Amino acid sequence: MPSEPSANPELLDKVINLAKRRGFVFQSAEIYGGFRSTYDYGPLGVNMLRNVKAAWWRDMVQMRQDVVGIDAAILGPPAVWAASGHLETFTDPLVDCRKCKERYREDKIDGVCPNCGSTEFTEARAFNLMFKTQAGPVEGEGATAYLRPETAQGMFTNFNNVLATIRKKPPFGIAQVGKSFRNEITPQNFVFRTREFEQMEMEYFVPPAEADEWYRYWIDQRYNWYLGLGIPEAQLRLHEHAKEDLSHYSRGTTDVEFLYPWGWDELEGIANRGDYDLTQHSNASGTKLEYFDQAANERYTPYVIEPAAGATRAMMAFLLAAYHEDEVEGETRTVLRLDWRLAPYQVAVLPLSKKPELEGVSREVLAALAPQYSCDYDVTQSIGRRYRRQDEVGTPWCVTVDFDSLEDRCVTVRDRDSTEQVRVPIDALLATLRERTGQS
Ligand code: ATP
Repeated sequence: MPSEPSANPELLDKVINLAKRRGFVFQSAEIYGGFRSTYDYGPLGVNMLRNVKAAWWRDMVQMRQDVVGIDAAILGPPAVWAASGHLETFTDPLVDCRKCKERYREDKIDGVCPNCGSTEFTEARAFNLMFKTQAGPVEGEGATAYLRPETAQGMFTNFNNVLATIRKKPPFGIAQVGKSFRNEITPQNFVFRTREFEQMEMEYFVPPAEADEWYRYWIDQRYNWYLGLGIPEAQLRLHEHAKEDLSHYSRGTTDVEFLYPWGWDELEGIANRGDYDLTQHSNASGTKLEYFDQAANERYTPYVIEPAAGATRAMMAFLLAAYHEDEVEGETRTVLRLDWRLAPYQVAVLPLSKKPELEGVSREVLAALAPQYSCDYDVTQSIGRRYRRQDEVGTPWCVTVDFDSLEDRCVTVRDRDSTEQVRVPIDALLATLRERTGQS
């Protein structure tokens, strides 16, 4: 049996440092001392996060005829969250250390205060994780509203709207990507657990008799999605929750877990939610959320299989898995071995020198690539330094324009992982990249 890879606490610091230094993720409101557990995505981070979400949307919606998307409101009335069970049960057990007064989620500490080592805690209190606010102009008199703590409810409350407009029948899914908010007691580990984050969720509505089969299907699909985007098998595993640990609505939950620098932890959860959500909203709203199967002349409430992933958390896992230090020409280099679909820049166009003669043809190359690929254009420093800078942010290909290019209309394509360089005619550049990306 292969030995289990071990946790690597130094890696987290290296990735956080790189993320800040190269414009992936910044501490939010940093000039005011930061705002705990909120982060801003910089020029490279926003590219990568968009790529993670686009990869998910492509595989979960665009490539499938059985899934459609929506984009629902973030603000919602209490009725939704009463019916979903969040008002009553979306709580974590909050404890205070009696000695140093730090606050913790009871289920995340091993009976010992991580801050001071004390074992004396207050009794656990149920703390609701939803952000509550007021909708309306007059302070204190507006209607209570909540920021959604998950995107899923938008798919349930729009079930009839979607069914009436898209002519699908179970099994079919509704997908959504967007921000969610949870007043986490102990946000931690960089963007792993934050109070504001992005989710990628899909509710797959199925005939009840097929629920188990589809539950297994989606576990398999989702596990393979991460593998296909470059997370090594040794850092990915499935963890099926024991029956006694299941949430009240769940008939089965399996987490896709990633080996983070602190050990195995959740990346995504896939749950068989039964008919809980549609039944709850039917009862509470008085609007029946059902499917009428004309062929069988039968009305039923579909079961729901939900793969629920975090976009920001997934981006962090992709960064961690991609981070490598290797040796090139006797020098240590940092390289992000990101899948080309996730890399912030897919191609960097690098004129060998700043001399104006090279600018025209370099801009021409850039103009040919930019509609297809996210490109960087960099003329500063030596070419070796520029390669290292691109390696460090995971750019799969550098295209170097030199003085010969003016004569032979060829450029050099350098590969990030092998560092191999090949000379390619400018006219064949798009075809070469299409081949390397497996698009042709
Ligand atoms: P946990 O037990 O870790 O608090 P959860 O099981 O409640 O998480 P879900 O409600 O299943 O999480 O959310 C689905 C996915 O959304 C998670 O797998 C994770 O990727 C992401 N997610 C949830 N909470 C956060 C958060 N506070 N910050 C970042 N991502 C989150």
